Amino acid sequence: MRTGKCLCGMCSYEIDDEPIVIAVCHCTDCQRLSGTGHTTGAMFPESSIRLFGQPATYKIESNAGNTVTRLFCGTCGSPLFGKNTGMPGFMTVAMGTLDTSDGMLPQVEIFTRNQRDWDHPNPAIESYDTQPGWKPENGI
Ligand SMILES: [Zn+2]
Ligand SMILES: [Zn+2]
Repeated sequence: MRTGKCLCGMCSYEIDDEPIVIAVCHCTDCQRLSGTGHTTGAMFPESSIRLFGQPATYKIESNAGNTVTRLFCGTCGSPLFGKNTGMPGFMTVAMGTLDTSDGMLPQVEIFTRNQRDWDHPNPAIESYDTQPGWKPENGI
């Protein structure tokens, strides 16, 4: 069981499954969302996540034409989750909100074309200029 929460504690969650993929995203939306160079997100089946509290939501259209919903704490502003209509049934958890994440290492970095020169990708893992044609059913 993994647990996590926002900065103020109004929103918290439990997850009882393993992540399907852990990705670092350098896209410009993720930079604005996080206020820094990238987001690090772990994707889980949505059904494995139990949410406590009522996060605020913000919807935006992705480059691929899907609707991305960001869930964040309306009180303290912590980004918590992301959902994408292109990946139904899955939810990405903002890794920094997990209480513990030992051993959960990113497998891929995406949108490295947007990478800030002060935010270096990890050369040891796979990276892509944009979004690879990755689907959960294909595995890593
Ligand atoms: Zn909060
Ligand atoms: Zn991104």
